[in-house]
Order: sequence, then C-alpha cells, then structure tokens
Amino acid sequence: MKIVLLGPPGAGKGTQAKDLSKRLALSHISTGDILREEVKNNTALGREAKAYMDKGELVPDKLVISMLQSRLTSKSANNGFILDGFPRNLPQAKALDEMLKAAGIDIDNVFYLEASEPVIVQRLSGRRVCTKCGAIFHVQNMPPKTENICDKCGAKLYQRSDDHEETIKNRLHVYLKETAALIDYYKKQDKLHYVDADREADFVIKDILKIAKGS
Ligand code: AMP
Repeated sequence: MKIVLLGPPGAGKGTQAKDLSKRLALSHISTGDILREEVKNNTALGREAKAYMDKGELVPDKLVISMLQSRLTSKSANNGFILDGFPRNLPQAKALDEMLKAAGIDIDNVFYLEASEPVIVQRLSGRRVCTKCGAIFHVQNMPPKTENICDKCGAKLYQRSDDHEETIKNRLHVYLKETAALIDYYKKQDKLHYVDADREADFVIKDILKIAKGS
C-alpha cells in the first residue's frame, strides 16, 4: 500500500504516519525527520537545509527529491510506504509521479488532514519530541508521565526550533502558498480523501484505516 499524507503543519501527519506504519507494516518516510537527522549529524545536506528549516521555508526541491529517491526504492519500502511531508509543492508531486512510474508503482490513497488555524497553533506550540526515538508528545494534550522525559525510551524531549510562534506563522503561509495546490492535483487523480483532523488522533486514524483497508 502506498499512502501520501497531506495537510498543514500541525495537522497530525507525523503522529498518524507513525501509528499507520506500525498497524499496516509500511515504511514511514518523513522528509522532515530525514532532514532533521541530517542537521543533527552536521552533514553537507544538513548544513544547507538548516537555514531554510529554521525560517520555516521549503528546502530546495532538488535536494529533497534526490534525498527521497533512494528511500522510495529501498528494500524497507518493499511492502509499501507512507509519505509524510512530501510532496510539498507541484514540482515535487510531479517528480514523485515520475519516480513511481519508473518503478512501476502507483499511489493508492492521499489523505488530506484538514485542521483549523487555532488548533494548529495550539498543537505546534506545545509539541515536544523525543531526542532519541522521535515519539511525539504535547505539554497539554498528551503530556509525558515525567516532565520532559519520553515515556517510551526515557530520553529527553525537546521543542523543535521551527515550533516557535513566528516560524509557525511562516510555515502556515508557505503551506497555503505552495502545498495547498496539491489538493486539486490529487483530486484530479481521484485519490484524495478528506479527513477532519481537528479531532483527537484516535478518531482520525479510524477514518484513515477504514478507507485504506477498503482499497
Ligand atoms: P516537517 O517535519 O514536515 O514539518 O518539515 C520541517 C521542515 O523541513 C519544513 O518546514 C521544511 O523546511 C523542511 N521540509 C520537510 N519536507 C520538505 C519537503 N518535501 N520539501 C521541502 N522542504 C521540506
């Protein structure tokens, strides 16, 4: 099964993708996670990407597309994948279609996680992420049992540098300018499903699974 998760930052794409990948044994490919790992490891790509990420801008297509290519065709993606955070604009969506076509595969479903601005800002500003395993928490909605410590692996939690108010606003602006156009792109391909993502994660995943399993 090949799934794309679309939606503004804070819609819950990462949370849903992690859960779906476990339930459906699919590879979770998050371009944001891959880029953060590159930044953490201070690679050439990471150094180049960091300036864009800190401002909430998109990293140039060329870098992200080539980074994705090897992941899509890697063995771990044999059983299928969930794309989280890619594509982010029309050139990326077209590049993805080309890559998949060359590999003889196609996307089954695109889920558009629809979330409203107040919910997005509340979720992003309170989000905390595990430094080790990447588990996602929220200071109010899903607090860890011990403050700032991951329930799953015991490592420290941190706040993403782009989860501060000014950057959140720019990420939303970039989303509306670049990513929202993908809704029409996938609607025309008859692959798009709207999901109300203002709700808690458990309700959202139920809707996604119903559709994914029916396909
Ligand atoms: P995310 O974790 O998906 O919110 O992504 C965090 C940041 O990584 C974004 O604000 C961008 O700077 C960068 N990024 C992630 N995915 C992409 C992509 N597909 N194209 C360009 N930049 C990306």
